[in-house]
Amino acid sequence: MKESLSIVLRQLYPKGTHVLKDVSSNDFMPLDLSTNNPGLEGLDITQADVCERYINRLLEASGKKVAVGGYLEKRSLYGSSERFQNEAIRNIHLGVDFWTEAGTPVVAPIAGKIHSFANNSDFGNYGPTVILEHLEAGITFYTLYGHLSLESFTLWSEGKEIEAGTVIGILGTAEINVGYAPHLHFQIIEDLNGFRGDYPGVCSEKDFKYYAKNCINPNFLVQLPC
Ligand SMILES: [Zn+2]
Repeated sequence: MKESLSIVLRQLYPKGTHVLKDVSSNDFMPLDLSTNNPGLEGLDITQADVCERYINRLLEASGKKVAVGGYLEKRSLYGSSERFQNEAIRNIHLGVDFWTEAGTPVVAPIAGKIHSFANNSDFGNYGPTVILEHLEAGITFYTLYGHLSLESFTLWSEGKEIEAGTVIGILGTAEINVGYAPHLHFQIIEDLNGFRGDYPGVCSEKDFKYYAKNCINPNFLVQLPC
């Protein structure tokens, strides 16, 4: 029987790896953007500047560089965007977010090749996005990096081989990323289901079971408590 992707990756990367250049897990501060966080009461975090001020205040108080978290978190971050209206409410987050300064270089946590990329530029989407394809222990899977900058496109061509630790993008500003405080959205995806340069980063309650299984918990890989 084929091992599960989670087990394979845990065996290959028992100490985890990194997605931000020159940042270690000592620089991380856990961030709760769930609807259960009382600290968010009265704050409209769908506004990028409000969200950024909230996060920066916490970072300053903690003395850390990067606010991280969000896998399977139920959020009120997506409510006002037209992108998330007229459909079942999608508010469960399928990746992990790294909230830090625009301009921060993003690196490939593991080797692979560039599968596809796109500028998903409708408001509330990912903005510039790249997807890497990986093959480990006979399992093909993908990692997605969203909310990057326009200059990141100069680093991308389909099929380009990428070594672990190579810079694969630069974090974008709210204007480019499109409408969020600067952060990296990182997601592991087993079956891309035909998507190219894009894949849902949030899901509805109704589809939770499928997406939670197809987008495994990435925390162990980036040295976060699971
Ligand atoms: Zn995200």
